[in-house]
Amino acid sequence: MKEIVFATNNENKRLEVAQMLGDAYHIRTLKDFGITEDIPEDAPTLEGNAKIKARFIAEKYDVNVFADDTGLEVDALDGAPGVITARYAGPAKRAEDNMAKLLTELQGKEDRSAQFRTAICLIIDGEEYLFEGICRGAIAEAKSGSEGFGYDPVFTPEGETRTFAEMEQAEKNLISHRGLAVQKLITFLRERGQ
Ligand code: IMP
Repeated sequence: MKEIVFATNNENKRLEVAQMLGDAYHIRTLKDFGITEDIPEDAPTLEGNAKIKARFIAEKYDVNVFADDTGLEVDALDGAPGVITARYAGPAKRAEDNMAKLLTELQGKEDRSAQFRTAICLIIDGEEYLFEGICRGAIAEAKSGSEGFGYDPVFTPEGETRTFAEMEQAEKNLISHRGLAVQKLITFLRERGQ
């Protein structure tokens, strides 16, 4: 079985990606290297943060690795919260507080369109590659559903009436920002026979 490191400690994400990669790969995460704290992400862009995380692991452990960074970009808020999506309502990174703040900011605004955008940085045999996935949609008026994580209960993808939190994991993977970015990563790895 092939091995690749996903520079994350988020079990939800590992499961999402493992489901897509299938049996051909064994995914190791930060936990397997004894890293339980988040790698500092202080770049001004999603791409920059994905690079910081992938480089940290590649340089320290000399392994093939990928890292992702995702932002929720709301049109009426000029692309905010963007790179600070995780800590929108403060450093505690609480999803409930983040969603509450977002719903308050959008009160009375007609345009609720938004997108999730994921940047993935892959470092393989010392070479760096970037992949992007975008999922357009809208911020719901209120929370709905209990699946998933983060802002899932308030994000309705385009062409859907349900939020991400009302969808099965596999269904979300087919259309989600991270799903699309991971799909590009997988196609790349297969084409390289890696
Ligand atoms: P990360 O870079 O993947 O950790 O994402 C940053 C933040 O975006 C997370 O803390 C979540 O709040 C949010 N986020 C990322 N992906 C998703 C998703 O698929 N659904 C809902 N929220 C997400």
